[in-house]
Amino acid sequence: MQMKLFHKTRATLAFWYAGVMGLIMSLCGFAVYEVIIQAYLVSINRELESVTGTLHNVIEATLKKPGRTEPVFQLVLPNICQASSGCPTQKIFSHNQLAHSEHGIVDVLYKDKQYYIRFVDSSGRLIAVAGFQPNELPPLVQTTQVWQTVKDSQSNRYSQMSLPLHTQDNQLWGYIQVGRSLKELDNRLAALKLVLALGLPITVLLVGGSSWWLAGLAMRPIDKSYKQMQQFTSDASHELRTPLAAINATVETVLDLEHLPEQEARDILVSIKRQNHRLVELVADLLLLSRLDQRTLATQWLPCCLNVLINDLIEEYSALASAASLQLTSSVLCHQPLYVMGDEDQLLRLLSNLIANAIQYTPTGGYVTVILKRSNGDAVIEIEDTGIGIAPNEQNQIFDRFYRVHSDRSRSTGGSGLGLALAQAIVQAHKGSIQVQSQLGKGSTFIVRLPLTDTPSSDFPRS
Ligand code: ADP
Repeated sequence: MQMKLFHKTRATLAFWYAGVMGLIMSLCGFAVYEVIIQAYLVSINRELESVTGTLHNVIEATLKKPGRTEPVFQLVLPNICQASSGCPTQKIFSHNQLAHSEHGIVDVLYKDKQYYIRFVDSSGRLIAVAGFQPNELPPLVQTTQVWQTVKDSQSNRYSQMSLPLHTQDNQLWGYIQVGRSLKELDNRLAALKLVLALGLPITVLLVGGSSWWLAGLAMRPIDKSYKQMQQFTSDASHELRTPLAAINATVETVLDLEHLPEQEARDILVSIKRQNHRLVELVADLLLLSRLDQRTLATQWLPCCLNVLINDLIEEYSALASAASLQLTSSVLCHQPLYVMGDEDQLLRLLSNLIANAIQYTPTGGYVTVILKRSNGDAVIEIEDTGIGIAPNEQNQIFDRFYRVHSDRSRSTGGSGLGLALAQAIVQAHKGSIQVQSQLGKGSTFIVRLPLTDTPSSDFPRS
């Protein structure tokens, strides 16, 4: 079920990512395509405009009678052909066939055989043609429109510019139309279209593949935390079920009895109370952990004196330590009292969990020492024991919720495996850190670092 959800979410993420990327890339491709077309057209039309303008100016200055060609036509355009003499529909003039024009326009006009020049009279009748002649242009070529894109019979496109020509006495002579082939542009655009059409799906496929991989990476912590949640729920239920089952069994046994002596009843109630106490503690720990997780604890942070806290705890645990035949001592390696900002109850809980563990996991005759010192703006508290130690592979797991190194052994001592998880959550809430150094059979040291605060003035509360 969980794997199915994981795969489904991963696929959805990958799909959306690839879709959005595909859309963005298509838009970019389209924009690039448009920019390239515009850039080409602008440069083509600029050249066309300059050629047409020059021809127009050179020829117009000599025109005498509307519709009649002058010798300058032949001079400027050596291959000009009068329409009345029946010009071929397609005629390509090679450059070396041409005499050099004194106006120097011919070089541009015939260079790549891309230009055609047409002269039409005011009624649109063809007078003369020059340059490269396309295959049958549309018969009625608009003369009044300056810029046009026209197509020949083979669908080749031409950009055409038309300018009116006037005689010296300012009569309308006719029009000069200069067209430039757009074949090169069309070929390049077709190639670009092909690249985009093939490139885009391939890129989207690649993006799809990588987004599947990325989605997997992104989902990994979610998957991990989901599994942790499941594990946590199952561990918590298990821990709660044990005392509940014990209480249930005790109550059922008592109910089966016909007669219950008072002393026995008291013993049973004490046992139920003990199980109940364990339940209450467990639920309180779980609640504290969840509140620390969600940062919903409404606590007021005050400066807390670590020297005082440690002294109180040493006093509190000395009886337990001597009952276990251990030496519990503290060692303060700084001259000034050390203060941290925090919640006193939580800090007490943190240190008491570590001290209780040290006592619990240290055999008779051992030592437990609590060291307080200052290091780089932090207060450092080390809880050192000469106990059983923790194997290196267990050291980073002991802070996990409900984790116990040997669950059976720990269970016999009543530990639920929440002590270090709580300690870590409290340290994190106080912006500090906790780490363990340990050697199997030799002992462990838990090192807590908490950021120091300035020593408070005397009007602050005691700790
Ligand atoms: P528990 O309630 O079982 O003590 P904790 O979260 O406090 O749970 O500790 C997790 C595990 O870490 C314990 O089961 C124990 O095996 C190991 N542990 C914690 N403190 C010490 C220590 N000082 N020495 C050796 N092992 C320790």
